[in-house]
Amino acid sequence: MVINMDVLKRIPVKEQDPKVRARNFEEVCLGYDKEEAMEEASRCLKCKNAKCITGCPVSIDIPGFIKAVEAGDIEEAYQVISKYSALPAVCGRVCPQETQCEQRCIRAIKGESVSIGKLERFVADWARVNDVKPEAAKEKKSQKVAVIGSGPAGLTCAGDLAKMGYDVTIFEALHEPGGVLVYGIPEFRLPKDTVVKSEIENVKALGVKIETNVVIGKSTTIDELMEEEGFEAVFVGSGAGLPKFMGIPGENANGVFSANEYLTRSNLMKAFDENYDTPIAAGQKVAVVGGGNVAMDAARTALRLGAQVYIVYRRSEEELPARVEEVHHAKEEGVILKLLTNPTEILVDDNGWVKGMKCIEMELGEADASGRRRPVEKPDSEFELEVDTVIMSLGTSPNPLISSTTTGLDINKYRCIIANEENGQTTKEGVFAGGDAVTGAATVILAMGAGKAAAKGIDEYLQNK
Ligand SMILES: Cc1cc2nc3c(=O)[nH]c(=O)nc-3n(C[C@H](O)[C@H](O)[C@H](O)COP(=O)(O)OP(=O)(O)OC[C@H]3O[C@@H](n4cnc5c(N)ncnc54)[C@H](O)[C@@H]3O)c2cc1C
Ligand code: SF4
Repeated sequence: MVINMDVLKRIPVKEQDPKVRARNFEEVCLGYDKEEAMEEASRCLKCKNAKCITGCPVSIDIPGFIKAVEAGDIEEAYQVISKYSALPAVCGRVCPQETQCEQRCIRAIKGESVSIGKLERFVADWARVNDVKPEAAKEKKSQKVAVIGSGPAGLTCAGDLAKMGYDVTIFEALHEPGGVLVYGIPEFRLPKDTVVKSEIENVKALGVKIETNVVIGKSTTIDELMEEEGFEAVFVGSGAGLPKFMGIPGENANGVFSANEYLTRSNLMKAFDENYDTPIAAGQKVAVVGGGNVAMDAARTALRLGAQVYIVYRRSEEELPARVEEVHHAKEEGVILKLLTNPTEILVDDNGWVKGMKCIEMELGEADASGRRRPVEKPDSEFELEVDTVIMSLGTSPNPLISSTTTGLDINKYRCIIANEENGQTTKEGVFAGGDAVTGAATVILAMGAGKAAAKGIDEYLQNK
């Protein structure tokens, strides 16, 4: 059946109604069904020299998998994707495709690009429902590799090494594996019990062992893993989980959160659900300071807990670093953007609780070193915003625990681990690193790309040892 004859346009994807979803934690995007996916796949020109592949940090054979979708062979499509990516159901949902594969799609020159992300998501979801798994290694090697952190970087590196036959153990500080996928990105964008858990199960099915509640640098150290426990190589994928604050007066008041804490309470500890023990201060009027994906997630979470929510960002909408789709969804749900605005003080009542936020209006001046126009304060433009909760979402940096407890592991001035981009090699022999721990806060797919490159680097190192 032909659903849509206009090949310049994408097959639209079903979404929950904004008014309804603004009050629940269920997934916003409902995804394609098989018929819609096959129809969308038929828009792909299966280019010989496919530009979309060059936009994907793990170089998925995009026309290859889309061809299988068009033919209705979804299992084949899944096997093609699995050669390149361990987390397709995650990437199909959270990758910024508009600046990666889809931006380079030839269809985007005239009309809309092929909906590559939504097709990837459809294939991965189909595989989950139909219990199709990636293939494990036939021959095992005796060499042991330790992976620190179970975020996308660690899971990808571990999965690739297991496919090569290595004996891999992941050590994770929290009680659940997944990194930002479980404690950061909210349920309404990335369902945990279905999507994330099942992709982690797939990595385990490759033979990877996961030990939770192990903080490397406290419970044990990298040096001990290598010298006493027989690990011949280590991959560090510990992320960038340390929040930044502004240093303005009043920041220690009750009702001020880091986005990390707010989202961890809601996502990992399920504070939004009355059946769980962890509390959360929902707030009536909430200001989220910042403009990245994390800020959008915190704002949309606060909205779902019943608050009126402002995003306070010092530049204009054009410079918002969050994904376009997320900003669009946040606005549709009723989040109010207070742009070109910067907080100068948090106002505190007699009991130590937030009662408001002093802000100043900004305007855009000259371009700075990054090429973005620098925001400058407008004179005499101070005003007060009445809020009872403030969520700081100003970025994060890597936790120094690992570097400070490992001899010879060097970091740069941003506290990021120094590692070779090609193979993840750090300044310490046998230790490799990648993901946010090396780059600072970035994206899921870049962390996966780094995990993949490091798995190759580790394999070469162990073969030549
Ligand atoms: C709220 C939020 C929303 C985001 N939205 C998007 C998005 O839409 N799209 C996108 O592409 N990216 C998004 N990102 C960014 C993306 O999630 C990260 O770039 C990515 O998860 C980095 O992967 P990683 O494996 O390097 O680190 P992480 O995912 O941070 O995983 C690191 C893991 O290491 C563990 N760990 C840390 N220290 C130790 C230790 N000493 N011992 C043992 N374990 C340790 C941590 O507990 C954690 O589980 C978002 C981030 C956040 C916070
Ligand atoms: S560039 Fe676009 S049309 Fe060409 S193969 Fe990739 S997805 Fe298909």
